[in-house]
Amino acid sequence: MKEISAERLEIQQKIKEKIRTENSIVKQKPLAFVETYGCALNENDSEKLCGMLEDMGYGFCDRADAADLVIFNTCAVRENAELKVLGNLGKLKPVKKERPDLLIGVCGCMMQQAHIKEQIQKKYKHIDMVFGTHALYKFPEILDSARMGQKVFSTEDSEGEIAEGLSVKRESFPLAKVSVMFGCNNFCSYCIVPYVRGRERSRSPENILAEVSALAKEGFKEVMLLGQNVNSYGNDLAGDGTSFAQLLKDVAKIDGIERIRFMTSHPKDISDELIDAIASEPKVCKQLHLPVQSGSDKVLHDMNRKYTRSEYLSKVEAVRKKVPDIVLSTDIIVGFPTETNEDFEDTISLLREVRFDTVYSFIYSPRVGTPAAKMPMALDEKEIHQNFEKMLSVQNEISREKNEAYPGSIQKVLVEGLSKTNPEFVTGRTDGGKIVNMKGNEELTGEIVEARITDCKTWSLTGEIIQR
Ligand code: SF4
Repeated sequence: MKEISAERLEIQQKIKEKIRTENSIVKQKPLAFVETYGCALNENDSEKLCGMLEDMGYGFCDRADAADLVIFNTCAVRENAELKVLGNLGKLKPVKKERPDLLIGVCGCMMQQAHIKEQIQKKYKHIDMVFGTHALYKFPEILDSARMGQKVFSTEDSEGEIAEGLSVKRESFPLAKVSVMFGCNNFCSYCIVPYVRGRERSRSPENILAEVSALAKEGFKEVMLLGQNVNSYGNDLAGDGTSFAQLLKDVAKIDGIERIRFMTSHPKDISDELIDAIASEPKVCKQLHLPVQSGSDKVLHDMNRKYTRSEYLSKVEAVRKKVPDIVLSTDIIVGFPTETNEDFEDTISLLREVRFDTVYSFIYSPRVGTPAAKMPMALDEKEIHQNFEKMLSVQNEISREKNEAYPGSIQKVLVEGLSKTNPEFVTGRTDGGKIVNMKGNEELTGEIVEARITDCKTWSLTGEIIQR
């Protein structure tokens, strides 16, 4: 895969230095507010935006109306998130009127859609910068133009290039997100991702390993390798045979990195080699997110998922055979256009059969330009909501029962920091990704401790540290 050339990145570097110098002579450090919507890949993009902002001499604040620069990094996967962004942009109109020097930018997947671009251009004239996912590396140039009073629209389609070496500001110590590939080739009929993030582009193994090695030197203990479908990692790398399973093994060789997680895996592409890597490599966490989306063959066909219910179940069986203690999670879409109540019951029976630890469930959201958006709806809104509620209650019971197996066991927990709800507690995760709350202080952050699990709830465990 072609990388953005050193010369083009050099230009951005020079602009960053120029803005940094300008910001260093003003009395007060300008403040940026960056809000992220959507998936972990988007969060990783925001970490890069914040890294560039820090390089340019910006500080950060947690309120849009208190900032000198506001950036919304958007998601196009569901309509609700889009409406929220548009609402937040609208709220900034009077703020901009009062403070014309406030700069407002909006970026990410939403901005790669023609109808949204048009809407922003027509109705949100107070926005200074609009840029898509492919223009992220050009952010210093975009910001510089906006600072000089120009409106910027940079939403060109992907040139199939990857920008390496961008600064990243991570707030997630001891965990770090590392994108290993971008885009998707699968065209599930409901999904906008292939249209807004482009085709699959894998980073080279050397660049990924260099990034993880640098993270290990900074003291990070866990990396989450990210891609829309990590199982097809490397398929687009001409002449390089590194598979995702091999990449996992190579990352595991890096001293200092204790845990490796990854997401997302398309069930049709999960290979025996990957299952073997999870089973045999101690640093690869025994956790797998395997989105099924529906338990009905008819709906899976209409979703263009390219597997059947029984093929999915065989994959789960193969994983559980080699990794019996695997913690499994999945995604479910309720109310896909062709889903009838009978199809929905197939999903319920699949949940009962597999007994996932966690299910991330969503009500279907039509996305302009996708094939599913043109399909007539089999169920009305009321029925879809009733089904959604039923699914939550079935799965909550299963999740709770799964967690009830933990009290009394000893778990290795990587402490992630103080609990957000109780300052006397720290929170961390087991190897399988279960959240554990334990009495302790901030100094434990980044340590893997042994904890005896004393209690459980539907979504978390409680434990006591028995060994540091
Ligand atoms: S695999 Fe399907 S659902 Fe996932 S990003 Fe690609 S098109 Fe979307």
